[in-house]
Amino acid sequence: MPTTWVRFFDEGQYHWGQLHGDWIQVFTGSPLDATRPCGPHPTIERLPLATTTLAPPCQPSKIVCVGRNYREHARELGHAVPTTPLFFLKPPSSLLAPGGEIELPPLSRQVEHEGELGIVISRRCRKLAAETDVRPYIFGITCVNDVTARDLQNSDPQWTRAKGFDTFCPIGPVVVASTDTADLTIETRVNGELRQQGHTRDFIFSLPQVFAAITAVMTLEPGDIIATGTPAGVGPLRDGDTVEVSIAGIGKLVNRCRAT
Ligand code: MG
Repeated sequence: MPTTWVRFFDEGQYHWGQLHGDWIQVFTGSPLDATRPCGPHPTIERLPLATTTLAPPCQPSKIVCVGRNYREHARELGHAVPTTPLFFLKPPSSLLAPGGEIELPPLSRQVEHEGELGIVISRRCRKLAAETDVRPYIFGITCVNDVTARDLQNSDPQWTRAKGFDTFCPIGPVVVASTDTADLTIETRVNGELRQQGHTRDFIFSLPQVFAAITAVMTLEPGDIIATGTPAGVGPLRDGDTVEVSIAGIGKLVNRCRAT
């Protein structure tokens, strides 16, 4: 069984822990700290998961999102299937903890969910060739909701507003320290109803192609996130909705929506 990491806030600071069933073993240090082997170290402290408020399970310098990585999703928005990976950034200020509230902003009338597989970077990488084995650069796998103000995405030539609102990047609840992304199903439900179901075998671009395209432009740092694109079935989020992104064997990311 791969290690399952969580982060949580307690006594004024963030801590890492490993999840074992319904309890958390608390660690000192971070598994993403470049100064290892100084950390992380297990402590004797254990916390019940049920009474621990989880935080986003990493602290990225940037969140790099792949657009149109599933044919059916490109079609549903009326776009051609791209020939090279299209990507954009979400700001770290858009991060939202598992269980946190997605704020529907007054600037948009059409906020939508995009359930995605998230990759957390383990070590610095730049200018990777497309044939590189990227597994050494993957710390683990998590669930991401690339929440999008679709009306602003359609009206603005840049996607910064559409993708960048505070709370528009729910992530978690855990990072599973696995590099095996070949056979994963990503599902999104709103109020329990299945809206999106995608499989990693349907990616237009493989992870090595995605890493090569991104790192041709920018250095990826430990803790950075790649959101790998959303399958077909994107749809609206309304005040009071509960949205859930789940990946079997990884976790279930649940957030409620609130009009602001
Ligand atoms: Mg997306």
